[in-house]
Amino acid sequence: MHQTYNRRELIKLLGLGAVSVVVPFNILESKQRNMEDRLSREWDVIVVGGSYAGLSAAMALGRALRRVLIIDNGQPCNRHTPHSHNFLTQDGETPAVIASKARAQVLQYPTVQLASGWVNSGRRLDDQWEILTSDGNSYRAKKLIVATGIKDKMPAIPGFEECWGKSVIHCPYCHGYEVRHQATGIVANGDAAYHYARLISNWTSKLTIFTNGTSTLSEEQRTSVAAHGIQITEARIARLNHREGMLESISLEDNSKVALKAIYARPEFVQQGELLHTLGCELNEQGYVKVDAFQKTTVPHVLACGDNSSMMRSVANAVATGNMAGAVANHELIEASF
Ligand SMILES: Cc1cc2nc3c(=O)[nH]c(=O)nc-3n(C[C@H](O)[C@H](O)[C@H](O)COP(=O)(O)OP(=O)(O)OC[C@H]3O[C@@H](n4cnc5c(N)ncnc54)[C@H](O)[C@@H]3O)c2cc1C
Repeated sequence: MHQTYNRRELIKLLGLGAVSVVVPFNILESKQRNMEDRLSREWDVIVVGGSYAGLSAAMALGRALRRVLIIDNGQPCNRHTPHSHNFLTQDGETPAVIASKARAQVLQYPTVQLASGWVNSGRRLDDQWEILTSDGNSYRAKKLIVATGIKDKMPAIPGFEECWGKSVIHCPYCHGYEVRHQATGIVANGDAAYHYARLISNWTSKLTIFTNGTSTLSEEQRTSVAAHGIQITEARIARLNHREGMLESISLEDNSKVALKAIYARPEFVQQGELLHTLGCELNEQGYVKVDAFQKTTVPHVLACGDNSSMMRSVANAVATGNMAGAVANHELIEASF
């Protein structure tokens, strides 16, 4: 992470030209260490979160010659899924391979560094942001890009978490093709269930909605799904039966069991940690970070991208919004200096 200087460069940089002949080398070395330490803590842009959105932002910035520090704790939300789909050139690849290719390409740019760690909080100091990590370090930058994704809250249904990303899926564009025409459940209620039913009926006609309690679908919605041969089951869910995450059936508290190959569900989510809160970024009604068309949050000099600020949960969208955030951060830096 540290750039090194020879004695001549160091004397020039530290403004010691006139006295250089009498400065012992150990003092120079210590001043060099201090300066390197400061440089390694001050950046043009800090990107928090080094998955698809964060790496995409960092690539745009690295190519714009910006000093960028990415801080990431290596827990992307799709880590449980065996294969990622619907992203051009990487369709069917494992998330780990896509991520490692992305990291290698981004870190080719010499002004970009990646540090492993967790960012706790951030605060405004003079004309910079300072962020604090859980290992007690602090770093400063002119701009922040928050690419922290979201945290899915697994419902208290035995077997749900084990199947998540494998046979319990959130998005038909990502995983629907692999379970097309199969017996499929929708675990949702009300408008969310109706929305899913209409969407998923494009991939399979063997659909059942499990409302896990009294249905809150409207009369009109019930009539509409019935007309398409979709059943609604209100019995509470006892557990999902699976083999290594691959669903076999769903057991209900009325002692019935329904054979299923896949379930669609959208668990509740929260934003990751406290960072956004400490920065003062506003969230919208759905819980996403409020951003404008340029990925700017409600706080000046802070941008957000990827899942934390979009309902469109896909690798392609994370990469696109990250790319925009990187270019906009660079543009703001140019505007401030030119
Ligand atoms: C189970 C599942 C399967 C999916 N399958 C597909 C698919 O097949 N195709 C597709 O296109 N999309 C798929 N998606 C959606 C896709 O994975 C996401 O849209 C994408 O990962 C979002 O990228 P992101 O960079 O915004 O967030 P993430 O990929 O979630 O990455 C966020 C990163 O930020 C880090 N982080 C968070 N907070 C901090 C902090 N405070 N300090 C340091 N680091 C932090 C995390 O550790 C993580 O590395 C899937 C999602 C899930 C949940």
